[in-house]
Amino acid sequence: MIQITQFRNKCIGCNACVEAAPYRWAISRKDGKCTLVGAKSVKEIYTINVPDLEWEDNLKAAEACPVKIIHIKKL
Ligand code: SF4
Repeated sequence: MIQITQFRNKCIGCNACVEAAPYRWAISRKDGKCTLVGAKSVKEIYTINVPDLEWEDNLKAAEACPVKIIHIKKL
């Protein structure tokens, strides 16, 4: 299992995470920021636990994020 965290309020809507893992990230039509699909939030911090097979794609997303608001770790 891995855990993905996004500090959404600092998202600039650049789409880099969507390109890396399109099943897990989507740009919101409401505010132009990216949504971590399926995640729960506490204030503007979104978190989800997902299977290990998502590691590579979401690591790429985290590395590509220009404002470094995507964090990923193994549980
Ligand atoms: S890569 Fe980062 S800044 Fe760009 S849309 Fe995704 S979360 Fe937002």
